[in-house]
Amino acid sequence: MGADPTSTRTKDRWVTFGSLVAMVLGAALGEWIHRNGGTANGFALIGEMLLVRPLLLLVVPLILFSVIGGAASLGATGRLGLLGGATLAFFLSTMGIAAALGALLVTWIAPGSSIDPAVAAALKAAPDALPAAVASGEVGTLNDAWRSILYQLVPKNVFGEMVAARPLGLITFSILLGLGLSAAGATGRTAIDVIEGVNQALMRAIGWVLWVLPIGVLALVTSTVAKTGFESLSGSLGTYMLVVLGGLLLHAFVVLPAIMLALGGGNPYAFLWRVRRAMLTAFSTSSSSATLPVTMEACESSGCSRRATRFVCPLGSTLNMDGTALYEAVAVVFLCQLFGIALGGTELAVVVVTATLAAVGAAGIPSAGLVTMVLVVQAVNASLGNDPARSLPVEAIGIIIGVDRILDMVRTMVNVQGDMIGARLLTPLAPDDDEG
Ligand code: ASP
Repeated sequence: MGADPTSTRTKDRWVTFGSLVAMVLGAALGEWIHRNGGTANGFALIGEMLLVRPLLLLVVPLILFSVIGGAASLGATGRLGLLGGATLAFFLSTMGIAAALGALLVTWIAPGSSIDPAVAAALKAAPDALPAAVASGEVGTLNDAWRSILYQLVPKNVFGEMVAARPLGLITFSILLGLGLSAAGATGRTAIDVIEGVNQALMRAIGWVLWVLPIGVLALVTSTVAKTGFESLSGSLGTYMLVVLGGLLLHAFVVLPAIMLALGGGNPYAFLWRVRRAMLTAFSTSSSSATLPVTMEACESSGCSRRATRFVCPLGSTLNMDGTALYEAVAVVFLCQLFGIALGGTELAVVVVTATLAAVGAAGIPSAGLVTMVLVVQAVNASLGNDPARSLPVEAIGIIIGVDRILDMVRTMVNVQGDMIGARLLTPLAPDDDEG
């Protein structure tokens, strides 16, 4: 597949150091624009055109062909069931740990209880407008959310799922087709070879998009910071933000690495450095879905097998969201503290479980976690007996909307990191070396 090593090295340096410099520069430029009351719409457009849209353009075919290829080669080994079970167990347990860590931290630090009463009253009086999906009640109850996930898992029309870019149904269809191809013998083999060719072509295309990563990062970070500004970190919601950020960093740099080390995945920090371009892309796009092409490219070149990458990463980009689970747990407990609603052990357990499920239900797009947080709020209210005097109004979510974007960038990075560690840890269950 012989790419010239010198040009690979040059590209790698440019992408890594260019993006890191772009991140700092973008933050400074965004802050400057914010302080001067300017807008950064031009930057947002550049970031979208250069990075987000080209990546999204590749996502649907990438999921389709990579999962077909992955399932076809796994079908031949008979290991798909084992890998599927282990993947889901890894996703749910790490998300549960993240949500528990969030609940623990926010209960311990109690940012919502220590807020000045006058400031708390002002925050409660003027929440921002809720996202349309929340305001219209579209999110529904936890039961509705589960039904929707099940329907997405088994859709009626795969083309409809492609048009709507809903990954779950696409994955189900691709697994079926891949298994069918591997069962079809010699004729299926021809199709599998074609699909492998398309997969390699898609990886090349992703490599080309990566050339513009630094410019995309600069544009997207500038536009996001210009909207919120760093003053939010020292504002009335500052402690809440610091708890979310502290929890995310703890999960990313202590918990996940410890899990990786304990399960024999090798040096977690060396791995993190090798997959840095996916982390940077997640940070700047705030979208696990848009990052998926880079996630897969990074995994395949960092010691994950192609088979594990093609199975775990597409599923992870839509189901596995450690950062979102942690964030939702912190946010809901924080809002309860702000409204003077005391949560006992049972309610905290409800928060941890529903934050995990709500994170599973969140799509890999910006601010999705903010929307599915409604499910956690409803579950907490139900566990408090739906007593109007001790209920958290859904409108309370509006209080934290204004500071969501910066938190979204960091939690998306942790979401993607979880997917990549999953692919690394599950590689022994789906090695490439026995490929037929
Ligand atoms: N933006 C996140 C992601 O794409 C989801 C969220 O809003 O938490 O992973």
